[in-house]
Amino acid sequence: MKRREILKGISLLPFGTGIVAAVAPLTTAKAAGKANGRNLFSELGVRTFINAAGTYTAMTGSLMRDEVIEAIQSASRDFCMLDELQDKVGEKIASLVHSESAVVTAGCFSAMTLGLAGVLTGMDQKKVEMLPNLDGSGMKSEVIIQNGHNIGYSHALTNTGCKIIFVETIADVEKAINEKTALLWFLNVQSDKGSITHEQWVALGKKFHIPTMIDIAADVPPVSNLWKFHDMGFDLVCISGGKAMRGPQSAGLLMGRKDLIAAARLSMPPRGSTIGRGMKVNKEEILGMYVALEHFIHNDHEKEWKEWESRISTIERAVKPFKGLTTEVKVPTLGNVTPTLHITWDSTAIKHTTKTLQENLRNGNPSIEVIGNGDNHITITAWVMKAGDEKIVASRLKEEFTKAISV
Ligand SMILES: *Cc1c(COP(=O)(O)O)cnc(C)c1O
Repeated sequence: MKRREILKGISLLPFGTGIVAAVAPLTTAKAAGKANGRNLFSELGVRTFINAAGTYTAMTGSLMRDEVIEAIQSASRDFCMLDELQDKVGEKIASLVHSESAVVTAGCFSAMTLGLAGVLTGMDQKKVEMLPNLDGSGMKSEVIIQNGHNIGYSHALTNTGCKIIFVETIADVEKAINEKTALLWFLNVQSDKGSITHEQWVALGKKFHIPTMIDIAADVPPVSNLWKFHDMGFDLVCISGGKAMRGPQSAGLLMGRKDLIAAARLSMPPRGSTIGRGMKVNKEEILGMYVALEHFIHNDHEKEWKEWESRISTIERAVKPFKGLTTEVKVPTLGNVTPTLHITWDSTAIKHTTKTLQENLRNGNPSIEVIGNGDNHITITAWVMKAGDEKIVASRLKEEFTKAISV
């Protein structure tokens, strides 16, 4: 056999079946884990579980909507020019969220890196290639952040070579601003941990002609947050696509000023020699993100909220009768805004520690993940569960607490 024929034969064997499987219609999210009847998770021995915890990256975020999977599959059958797709999708997204412009990024984190890159370089191609080496480049090099907003994600900003300058008060900001100041960055989820409000932050940016950026990664619902911060005057808004919006886990959005997003895109694929070359988003993710956003915006949010509440109440009702156990449903005011069940128990009445309960749930069948924080305390959310999961969680918790009653 000629080498070419051998290669052809090889390519028909293992990959042939894979391709057929990849284009087979998938109608349910459950089917998404299977390819041509294969359950790849069980084949590999990878544990899957009921996610009663929430949208955690370590737990692979959220499950994509069926419509997103369909968009991904249909997109996978054709080629297009990456930039043209980003242009057209960006225009649609911008009009949905009240921004001048938008681009699909590889998550909120990369939206922040790329947005700041755009602020630093403008449309100067030489500067784009210099990042993250700011010394002697003529580029600005400082980002101002409130102390309370420093919870780790600011690494997305230092990836550009910039340094973070921490402030507490408006007077601090005014003093800190100098010719090296590139950006004023705000973290919505920590907005109650800083003394400077959103509006004051935007006003400072306008007063000193410095762009403002806000991280709202996990801040929908409410859906109105998609446009609130553009309307308020932030120049750049960054959000995750694979949390409540149920788009691809590896997608997010950079939205805002047209000039800044055009500049940010100079650091994005397909362009090489950039800090963003490794932050590729493929056509499937771009279209999946777009469809996820559309569906999220047009969702019946009230109905969905009622569904979450009803699931949480199913679980609460199952555990409430236990002596020495208390339950409370709280809704966080900032970030992960969804009904959250807090279960606390008295260790003299129920012998489980947080850790043993978590481990028993994890090792049960089906496996269940909940969040454990502190002694004798777990929290549960229902927004990334599949319908019916709540009944299993309720009965497993009941079983576990029954087992652990002190006699
Ligand atoms: C999740 C999260 C990010 C990172 O978002 P990705 O979409 O995973 O890149 C950034 N900031 C905050 C506050 C987050 O919660």
